[in-house]
Amino acid sequence: MAFDYDLFVIGGGSGGVRAARVAAQGGARVALAEESRYGGTCVIRGCVPKKLMVFASEFPEAIAEAQAFGWTVHAGGFDWAAFRGKLDAELDRLEGVYRGILSNNGVETFDMRARLADPHTVELADGTRASARHILIAAGGHPVRPDLPGAEHALVSDDIFHLDRLPKSILVIGGGYIACEFACILNGLGVEVTQFYRGAQILRGFDDEARGLVSDEMIQSGVNLHLGTNIAEMTPVDGGYRVVATNGQEATYEQVMFATGRAPNTRDMGLEAAGVTLGRKGEIVVDRYSQTSVPSIHAIGDVTDRVNLTPVAIREGMAFVETVFNGNPTPVDHDLIPTAIFTQPEMGTVGLSEEDARERGPVEIYATSFRPMRESFAGRSARVLMKLVVCSETRRVLGCHIVAPGAGEMIQLAGIAVKMGATKEDFDRTVAVHPTMSEEIVTMKTPTRTA
Ligand code: NDP
Repeated sequence: MAFDYDLFVIGGGSGGVRAARVAAQGGARVALAEESRYGGTCVIRGCVPKKLMVFASEFPEAIAEAQAFGWTVHAGGFDWAAFRGKLDAELDRLEGVYRGILSNNGVETFDMRARLADPHTVELADGTRASARHILIAAGGHPVRPDLPGAEHALVSDDIFHLDRLPKSILVIGGGYIACEFACILNGLGVEVTQFYRGAQILRGFDDEARGLVSDEMIQSGVNLHLGTNIAEMTPVDGGYRVVATNGQEATYEQVMFATGRAPNTRDMGLEAAGVTLGRKGEIVVDRYSQTSVPSIHAIGDVTDRVNLTPVAIREGMAFVETVFNGNPTPVDHDLIPTAIFTQPEMGTVGLSEEDARERGPVEIYATSFRPMRESFAGRSARVLMKLVVCSETRRVLGCHIVAPGAGEMIQLAGIAVKMGATKEDFDRTVAVHPTMSEEIVTMKTPTRTA
């Protein structure tokens, strides 16, 4: 049977665009449909604008530090409108880059929603249909609000980038990546931030000592963090929302933001009718090669809810092309993925937490928490953490956890060693770079504790 295309990609985010480009460069006839903006979550409403906001939010601290180092400088006000204008222009530029990548490589694009009509056919929003030998679903995910009366009034992360002005106060609900990052960003930009997290400590699943330090530092820098607390009711009132917390306390906030998780974009996509199996959270179930229950349909990125990170979606897209178009079956390696949470201070992490490692066997923990030279000179109390989790038997470093300014940059490099299977002795043999914070990672000689 002759198909219109060799590959039809649904979704123009990082994963979909990469797969489309690489397949097209290999000679495949490729089409891609995107209903919103090219670049997807990462470029348009996630990593990129978030990181630019992180940069913007760090200046008050930098200015205070500059004063401590002898500079006569004063922070004026923060001009949100000016920043947002530049942000919008930068996102337009990046969207143009993504469109350019597709058109320069001969990928035909459709700026509209697409859904499955059958295992080899895509139906576009204008009613036209296109057939393809392979279909790749890279439709991403979206933020979800809890089922709470009034929740529809609240913001989600997508909305933050479009605010006309910054609120005076905000209540952030959640304790994951997004809640913690935005609590720190908005706090840095001068918004009064209150954060409710229903559990005992934010950043569940990460190393206890590391998340404990992030939490302490967030509180120290002004985030009004309430643990073991959730939102019970929210009602619009003059000047914001009256919120009742589960501990009975009431307060008014100008804005409320839910950062209570994300869900895969699988609704009304024609998936079930085409025979594609979905999981409990609506995610597309795939095998190691990103193949769904329908052989001609693959899925990558957040829509599969495996590891929801941009570089992982890109890897999955490349592995898909290698497997399906280059005849080289390539499973995606989801083990030992380094990641960073852009809180202030940042947390960079790769491998097992101390708690998870202990459950698997005997470990040695090497950890040091200290005031770095720069903070100490500036008279700041902020602390950092450098931590290695080592298997007592194999000596392999099973986990590395860093809480420090620039931890995201550091963990990328430490991640190479951990991924290579470096032992504690390999770390020890590496000469320190002095004076740095990260030199501690190669100079910790005695275990802090063993278990
Ligand atoms: P997460 O799943 O990480 O966090 C959701 C948070 O909301 C958790 O603290 C959860 O609590 C809480 N929550 C869930 N439901 C409710 C509810 N009904 N009431 C109150 N609280 C609730 O999701 P995020 O949205 O923060 O991030 C999604 C994913 O995006 C991340 O897992 C990550 O993969 C990716 N991401 C990566 C970033 C990076 O690389 N820096 C940045 C941002 C996102 P509990 O812990 O109790 O379940």
